[in-house]
Amino acid sequence: MSLQLEPVIGLEIHVQLKTKTKMFCSCDNRGENLPPNTAICPICLAHPGTLPWPNEQAVRFAVLLGSALGAQLDPVLRFDRKHYFYPDLPKGYQISQFDHPTCSGGSFTFEVPGTNVPRNSATVRIERAHLEEDAAKSFHGTAGETLVDFNRAGTPLIETVTHPDFKTPFEARCFLQELRLLVRTLGISEGDMEKGHLRCDANISMRPVGDENLYAKTEIKNLNSFRSVERALEFEIKRQSELWEAGTPPTLTTTRGWDDANQKTTEQRSKEGLKDYRFFPEPDLPFCDISAIIAEERRHLPELPHAKRARFQAEYGFTAPDARQFVEHESLAEYAENVMSEFLAWVRSELPETSEEEFKPRAAKLVSGWLLSKYLGALSEMGREFSRDIITPENFAELLTLLYRTKINSTTAQTVLKKMIETGADPSHILEDEKLTGADEQSIDLWIAEVIAANPAQVAEFKAGKFSLLQFFLGQVMKKSRGTADPETTAEKIKDALE
Ligand SMILES: [Zn+2]
Repeated sequence: MSLQLEPVIGLEIHVQLKTKTKMFCSCDNRGENLPPNTAICPICLAHPGTLPWPNEQAVRFAVLLGSALGAQLDPVLRFDRKHYFYPDLPKGYQISQFDHPTCSGGSFTFEVPGTNVPRNSATVRIERAHLEEDAAKSFHGTAGETLVDFNRAGTPLIETVTHPDFKTPFEARCFLQELRLLVRTLGISEGDMEKGHLRCDANISMRPVGDENLYAKTEIKNLNSFRSVERALEFEIKRQSELWEAGTPPTLTTTRGWDDANQKTTEQRSKEGLKDYRFFPEPDLPFCDISAIIAEERRHLPELPHAKRARFQAEYGFTAPDARQFVEHESLAEYAENVMSEFLAWVRSELPETSEEEFKPRAAKLVSGWLLSKYLGALSEMGREFSRDIITPENFAELLTLLYRTKINSTTAQTVLKKMIETGADPSHILEDEKLTGADEQSIDLWIAEVIAANPAQVAEFKAGKFSLLQFFLGQVMKKSRGTADPETTAEKIKDALE
């Protein structure tokens, strides 16, 4: 009989903060874009006699993240030394936070899309989030030499540690994607995983279903994409399950690295235990009272992604997938809100008899359809990125009102949209300049009357039941309008006239 096993997964995420300067000195924090060893000073090179000083902006960022995660915030800022030896660590220790992290506890709820998943919403407990400095960067040459770039030494990081609450590798991936959106929304990091702004270690163990114990886990390093996090965890589930099946489950905590080229994990050095790090309070940094900073930053907390998604559905009537797509990019979400409010304001003033209940779902459908698929689609065809400066929200809303009133049909609207992208002009002017103005109702009625009068035989056949002749009449009217009439409303009008 095969053993029923379940994975127990936790994550540790390092987020590189986008402060102007480094964690404990005034060196430029954009060292990754500068020539090697130019963003350095005696403090981050650990020259004897130098003293560190904490970066207030980094502390504010930690407070923001902790608040967003619902963590408890320590009003006393304190740091510890974590000792280990490595060529990219000039001091021989890293300044970190040990038993008094700035943020402790909290939880994070995120969506898990899909039908083949154990749950569509997961809440993961946060153990802690603490501030620390990054090490330098080593480059290993082909001839066996190692080069070190100290630009990264002293870069501010927040390390977030979760409880092992993920049920599947896919959940771990969804969490990371939502965390990236969160740090971008808070404005504390670029969150670019490929550039190392967001680095993740995953730990995983297996256990028989129903067993609440935790067994020896594997820590996986070198995960530098969302996909690799998911793949590495899937690989480990398979590897560890085989060990359990064979009656030899892992007994020691081990560290493995993800080998992306071969899509497998391989055993690495055994990790230092807590004792090896010889943590002790950093004597060069006095305790700081940060209660005023905590109170201030809590007031600055922006609307968080999950709240914004919920609001987009409730307030505007967007569908869940559309709300998700808008909120994924802050500038797009803001643009959609501006377009929507311009559009709603127009309806309220021009069509006061329309009820909101009747109008809103139609408006939401028009805005999401024209913004997410037609506009973004046209931009990508033209090889351009979305920016709110290409078409103003006022002009975009105007285009939608023309569609809403069926002044123009979808084909004309797409032509106008392309012109708007190219010229930034408003739709009315484009319609006039390009002679695309939709035919007005009176002209359409007149053309219909003319067509009916000129074709008595066809009219008689239609009335006798040959309804396929509608296309014939429509074709005649469209010809008279030189393509400016909206085919849908025109067809309706012809039917009415022939009844
Ligand atoms: Zn420095």
